[in-house]
Amino acid sequence: MNVALFALGGTISVSGGPGHDGLVPRLTGADITAAVPGVTELGVKLDVRDTQAVPSANLTFAEMLDVVAAASTAVRNGAIGAVVTQGTDTLEETAFLADLVWPHEEPLVFTGAMRNPTLAGADGPANVLAAVRVAASDHGRSLGALVVLNDEIHAARWVRKAHSTSTATFASPNAGPLGQVVEGRVRVLAMPRRHEPLPSPAGRLAERPDAARVALHVVALDDDGALLRAVADTCDGLVVAGFGVGHVPSALAPELGALAEHMPVVLTSRTGSGSVLRNTYGAVGSERDLLRRGLVNGGLLDPYKARVLLRLLLASGAGREEISAAFARHG
Ligand code: ASP
Repeated sequence: MNVALFALGGTISVSGGPGHDGLVPRLTGADITAAVPGVTELGVKLDVRDTQAVPSANLTFAEMLDVVAAASTAVRNGAIGAVVTQGTDTLEETAFLADLVWPHEEPLVFTGAMRNPTLAGADGPANVLAAVRVAASDHGRSLGALVVLNDEIHAARWVRKAHSTSTATFASPNAGPLGQVVEGRVRVLAMPRRHEPLPSPAGRLAERPDAARVALHVVALDDDGALLRAVADTCDGLVVAGFGVGHVPSALAPELGALAEHMPVVLTSRTGSGSVLRNTYGAVGSERDLLRRGLVNGGLLDPYKARVLLRLLLASGAGREEISAAFARHG
C-alpha cells in the first residue's frame, strides 16, 4: 500500500527559534514523517516528495494545481491516496481548489500543524498520522479533498480556519466535520455531495500567473465604494463579501451593477457561515436588488471559497452562463 505525500512547508516544517532569526519552513518531508510515531506500523509505504518549503501565504494557484496533477499521477500509478502537508493559513483555499478539480475516488488529504515542532505538544506528528490513516482507508474514498487535523475529518468544501492559534482551529460551521479518527480508526459519519470535476487551468496559470485576477471586497460600515472603482481596470472578476444575508450600502449598488456588466461579480456574506438570500429584502443594496443588477448568488460559499471557484472558472475560459451554473451547483 502506497500513499504519496507532498511537503509544501508551513508551521509543520519550521525550525530555528528565539536567538535565531525566527522560525522558517526548513524541514523536509522525510524529516516530518520521521517524527511521526507509529507511522511505520501502519503498513503504508510513504512516497515522500518535497515540492517546496514555504509559508502557505506564498502558495499560488498554479503551484497547487501542479501538486494536484502530481498526486493524480501518483494515484494513476497505484497510490491508494495522497497527503499534502502545508501551512494552515491558506489551507481552506488550497484544499477547496484541489477538491474542485480532483477526479479520483482515492482520498486527497490536506494537513498541517498549529504548534511548531519546537513546542511542547507539537501537533504535526499526530496530524500527519491521522492524515495518512485517512488517505489509506477505504472509508476515506469518494469524499474528494479532505482536511484532517486534530483527529477531525473535514470536507474541503466546508472547512474554515476559525482561530489564529488553537489546535482546534479547523471547523465546518455550515456542515460539521465529516468524521473523526478514533483510536486510529477512521470513522466517517457523513458523505459530502460531489460534483463533476472542473477542468484544471494549470498550464494557462503557469504561463500567466496574473491571468484571471479576482478581487475580494469586504463591505464595511460607511463604505463609500472608492476601492471598487480600481477593480474595473485591474481585475477580471469580483467577489463581494456583503453584510449579513448579502447587503451593501445603497450607494454601492449602482457601482456593483455597473461592474457586473463588465465582469462576473459574486455576492457572498462576510459573516463566516450561512447563505446569502435571494428573495427577501427589497431596499436598494439588498440581495434582491443586487441580483437584479446582475450579481451572481454565491449561496453558502464563503468569500474565500467563492474567489477560488471564480478564479478557476475564469482561468479556464468559462463564460457567464457557465459561471452562473457553477455557482448554482457549488454555492
Ligand atoms: N503561517 C503558517 C503558514 O500558513 C501557519 C501554519 O502553518 O499553521 O505557513
